[in-house]
Amino acid sequence: MEAQRRQLWFKTARAASVFLLASMCFAILVPIRAQAGPFLRAGSTGESVAIVQEILSGLGYYTGRVDGIFGPLTDKAVRAFQSASGLVPDGIVGPLTWAALERVGEVSRGKTGPLRGRLIVLDAGHGGSEPGAISPWGDKEKDFTLGIALKTRRFLEEMGATVVLTRYGDYPPGSDWGYPVDDLLARASIANSNGADIFVSIHINAYPQDPGVSGVMGFYRRGSSESYALASKIAWAVNASSGLKMIDVQQGPYYVLNRTYMPAALIEVGFMTNRNDVLSLRLGSFQDKVAQGIAAGIVAYFGR
Ligand SMILES: [Zn+2]
Repeated sequence: MEAQRRQLWFKTARAASVFLLASMCFAILVPIRAQAGPFLRAGSTGESVAIVQEILSGLGYYTGRVDGIFGPLTDKAVRAFQSASGLVPDGIVGPLTWAALERVGEVSRGKTGPLRGRLIVLDAGHGGSEPGAISPWGDKEKDFTLGIALKTRRFLEEMGATVVLTRYGDYPPGSDWGYPVDDLLARASIANSNGADIFVSIHINAYPQDPGVSGVMGFYRRGSSESYALASKIAWAVNASSGLKMIDVQQGPYYVLNRTYMPAALIEVGFMTNRNDVLSLRLGSFQDKVAQGIAAGIVAYFGR
């Protein structure tokens, strides 16, 4: 018994040191990708900046190219927008400026396409101090979910939908409400108070027991055939667009599914514990494929 336990301890210690070594190597070899921070400002780059530029250009504040680079023109446009909206014109896009951009941005979107007139709430899992699952190589689930949500939003808008995100950066939903609120409650409330047609929550799975496990899973609200249809259409479409193996569609006992009033799905896209999945998820091109799949699944759901 004692010998067995010691052996087990030894195995665990050995595994831990191998893991530690492996993560150290990765930390040195793989530069951590720049992620969308909670605040955008001069010098920021990426998808979130492009969205700000797109909204500001629709409103006439921004006259430059939508290139995802927060340069002097973007800075000027942000300050002008902030002044006009009664915000501090500091050129920094934090939760309050995001909220204001969202409110007015909606007016300029959703003109034509198969999703015209649909209001979709996308929920990027986790955020802020809650990273979600962390890969053995240090990648955080919250960064992948946000990247995919931002990309999905653009595909959906191109097809005419109005899209609201529960968060636009690395902060917990509800952190801009001015009083303490549970982030899960905030996610569901954003969908409910906007009267969303559907709610889609994006996550990456983790299964440390077997790093070989990879694939996509859909979860739906118990007893809702609409939620089942939504989760199933999205999971199959992501399988088709990304090549991720289809695992299955299950009933999920999740707060965001049970506390939303509209058809809701939670999708787990790949595994933080699978090396191939993580390597793929780091690529913008792969996140694009996943996002395209989610958007295609949503179109298929409404087109039934
Ligand atoms: Zn998650």
